[in-house]
Amino acid sequence: MHRPNPFHTLTFEPALEALGDDYHDVVAAAEFPRHTLRFRNDALLSTLGLPPTQVTEEDWIAAFGRFEGERAFLALRYHGYQFGAYNPYLGDGRGFLWGQVRGIDGGLYDLGTKGSGTTPYSRSADGRLTLKGGVREVLAAEALHRLGVRTSRCLCLIETGEALYRSDEPAPARSSVMVRVSRSHIRFGTFERLHYLGRKDLILKLLDHVLTVYYPHLLGEPNAYQLFYTELVERTAQLAAQWMAAGFCHAVLNTDNMSITGESFDYGPWAFIPTYDPGFTAASFDYFGRYCYANQPHACRWNLEMLQRPLEAVLAPEEMAVGLAVFEDCYHRTYQERMLARLGFAPPMTLPALELLRQTIQMLYDTQVGYHRFFSDLTGQFTPRWREDKQWMLMLHDFDLTLAQQNLFASWRDCYFGLLNTLPSDQMPEITQRLRQHNPDTVLLRPVIEAVWNPIVYADNWEPFYALLQEVSAPARAGSPSIGQTLGEGLDGGIVPE
Ligand code: AMP
Ligand code: MG
Repeated sequence: MHRPNPFHTLTFEPALEALGDDYHDVVAAAEFPRHTLRFRNDALLSTLGLPPTQVTEEDWIAAFGRFEGERAFLALRYHGYQFGAYNPYLGDGRGFLWGQVRGIDGGLYDLGTKGSGTTPYSRSADGRLTLKGGVREVLAAEALHRLGVRTSRCLCLIETGEALYRSDEPAPARSSVMVRVSRSHIRFGTFERLHYLGRKDLILKLLDHVLTVYYPHLLGEPNAYQLFYTELVERTAQLAAQWMAAGFCHAVLNTDNMSITGESFDYGPWAFIPTYDPGFTAASFDYFGRYCYANQPHACRWNLEMLQRPLEAVLAPEEMAVGLAVFEDCYHRTYQERMLARLGFAPPMTLPALELLRQTIQMLYDTQVGYHRFFSDLTGQFTPRWREDKQWMLMLHDFDLTLAQQNLFASWRDCYFGLLNTLPSDQMPEITQRLRQHNPDTVLLRPVIEAVWNPIVYADNWEPFYALLQEVSAPARAGSPSIGQTLGEGLDGGIVPE
């Protein structure tokens, strides 16, 4: 008997398609000369309701390499502010919405492609994704998920056998199709396009769709639109704080890369910061540092402000100003909580805790010791003995500090010692556990990525990449007591709030 492809038996719910053809174009996928499955995310598959053992390599390739089946693929229409300038010529130029699926947790998930061929929005570009671009997006999403950042994740990566030419990669670059699972592919720019076209009717229809699917708890409230905007401001502020505490620089915070669900997605030239450098810029084309590390919260807030233009269809400027005003508080609260957790502590945010945070940032900035290395050393060296005697406390090996920097570090140690001593000794195991949970051993600094990319280029050896993926998605350091149990397996950020 003919066995259907398990991907065609998913619980589809074509919510966007049902809105009519004002928001998308139906497109066809490209035909590729070769298909090699390079990555399959079995954990995600389970969330979508498919047992991984029932899905063969051939199933993956048929669904996402050859794009077999009767599905209508939708290139989504959107505009956006790119580096501050409005661009009305955007839209899905190298990807499409493959389908929308109801997950076993009840959430609706988008399966979106990247690199699957040209669309009406490709302009003069090729509609393709380089293999390295695909590898980088897989890595970023898994690492951020592990770090508790609310992010899309990659479902699979298929190498497709074409030669590509890019200014930022040696020629010829290998090609790939990546499939991403996200909460939604509706962007701030989806609304901006409708405003640009003067289609208030379509803004209203899309807003009601967004509320119904992604903010159902607000339905029926008399001021549902204002509550929606305020919640989006909160979610976006939290996301910016999550990136900042993780030491992550997204690099291209244009409004076409901002999700209406406040989820992080679309990973291009992203980077983790090597040291605490507020001006660190990840994209070579970000000439003025608009999206540098420390500007990320400002960029997100600016994007939320621009979104007010389309939302004027339903909200008064004063109502939106009230919503936007929650950004600062929400950002700082989340950032402080996350940073405190990286130091091993939990709220309440007392004055000594705030002082420790201040000194930590100051010390990381002044000494330029490795940002991740610092938290990693803190985690590796911590013992409950620190609370008893200052001499056991953290040492920064391998760093040549000036006298002034040594003094700064000594003051930091005093501060940490003081905060530890506000806690009873039976709370020390919790500190250990928190440190291990929030500070991974391996961070995807650029040399780490190059170290797994080179074997792929020179020997088609994928083992180091798989090993790295395992490391960055491992729930916590070895020896950690049952931390795996505190991590959600679903699509939300992995770290469950304490
Ligand atoms: P991004 O910077 O990846 O968010 O992309 C910005 C816009 O350019 C989006 O509309 C993309 O779909 C489009 N785009 C980026 N790269 C390509 C490509 N190689 N071919 C076609 N469109 C592309
Ligand atoms: Mg994009």
